[in-house]
Amino acid sequence: MALIVQKFGGTSVATVERIKNVAQRVARWKKQGHDIIVVPSAMSGETNRLIGLAKDISDSPDPRELDVIASTGEQVTVGLLALALQSEGLKAKSYTGAQVKVLTNSVFTKARILQIDDSKIRHDLTNGYVVVVAGFQGADEEGNITTLGRGGSDTSAVALAAALNADECQIYTDVDGVYTTDPRVVPEARKLDTITFEEMLEMASLGSKVLQIRSVEFAGKYKVKLRVLSSFDDEGEGTLITIEEDKNMEHPIISGIAFNRDEAKLTILGVPDLPGIAYKILGPIADANIDVDMIIQNVGQDGTTDFSFTVNRADYTAGLEILKATATAMNARGVVGDNKTCKVSGVGVGMRSHPGVASKMFKVLASEGINIQMISTSEIKISVVIEEKYLELAVRVLHKAFGLDKSE
Ligand code: ADP
Ligand code: ASP
Ligand code: MG
Repeated sequence: MALIVQKFGGTSVATVERIKNVAQRVARWKKQGHDIIVVPSAMSGETNRLIGLAKDISDSPDPRELDVIASTGEQVTVGLLALALQSEGLKAKSYTGAQVKVLTNSVFTKARILQIDDSKIRHDLTNGYVVVVAGFQGADEEGNITTLGRGGSDTSAVALAAALNADECQIYTDVDGVYTTDPRVVPEARKLDTITFEEMLEMASLGSKVLQIRSVEFAGKYKVKLRVLSSFDDEGEGTLITIEEDKNMEHPIISGIAFNRDEAKLTILGVPDLPGIAYKILGPIADANIDVDMIIQNVGQDGTTDFSFTVNRADYTAGLEILKATATAMNARGVVGDNKTCKVSGVGVGMRSHPGVASKMFKVLASEGINIQMISTSEIKISVVIEEKYLELAVRVLHKAFGLDKSE
């Protein structure tokens, strides 16, 4: 008998019919004698709808109230799922994050979990209940409702698995595992039986939204056995995220291609090439809580430099305004913005032992006439910023060139 946390994403609980299917699946596990905690997301589209309602009232809604509103999506599904489980003849009880309590910090809309009180859940499990806990949410010290950032139910599930020392955390979604790239963009993508935490972390942080990055961090830190599976398909073992990389295994050079459309590029032109310039440009950006991703600096002949960086597209307008003010203050030549860029990355622990991966990537993109605007590399990834209109093409040709296509 094992303790298993099962998370079901939005599409898996999109209708009452699907919620009943989830209940049947959970019932099968329960009847095998396992203790089960279920963590559903909101019905698909519901979180967007709720945030949309708030934005119909205010362009920049108060984040505390936004969390009060957005968290209700999961409150509905936990209740419905508990009812569906009861209809299957099981004892079931639902909790919101605040009821559990999942204690978070007070950073509304992107709170971090600090601690989980496991007493009610343990008590219920001992008494034979399936415990249904709302994903995506918690409450701070003062009892304010908080949410964990988009896709945060994954993190709720892994955090519960860690807190209760569960044997496995299963993430049920609308694909049957983690693929070499998003199978919706490249139909030739291959399902991976295993992927290392290190690679999954990179994939998630570079745009593969199949798992929220914090859930992967949590699972790595607390050694949670994490698996991604299909909620529509009973077959298959999904993808296991492995802690240890198999040293004996011959790794492919690149394990996956990730991409992110949410990139925007900002450039300040003709600033003096002096110490402290980067700080003067990026300081005000950081002060506005805007995260900077890639940075590039080109020094010209005349002692001035052009300085470019990328930000999340949602921060584009705010970033541009700040940069314009900086440009005026610094007497720069001007500011240019581009919010039609994207980032494509190759990820793989195999890169460590294979030089020349970057040049191969550049060659493949060049042969398609795709211009690279920015490059960043680390030990196990290479990212390029390119025009957004080339995203699908770039992902497809790189996937093929690195031997990841199904038929390869
Ligand atoms: P859920 O609502 O279940 O949380 P998400 O939409 O958040 O589901 O995540 C699943 C989606 O992630 C898939 O439908 C797929 O389009 C996308 N995805 C992106 N990259 C990958 C990848 N490498 N492997 C599998 N799915 C991926
Ligand atoms: N419902 C939330 C969202 O749409 C959390 C989740 O689905 O994981 O972002
Ligand atoms: Mg998700």
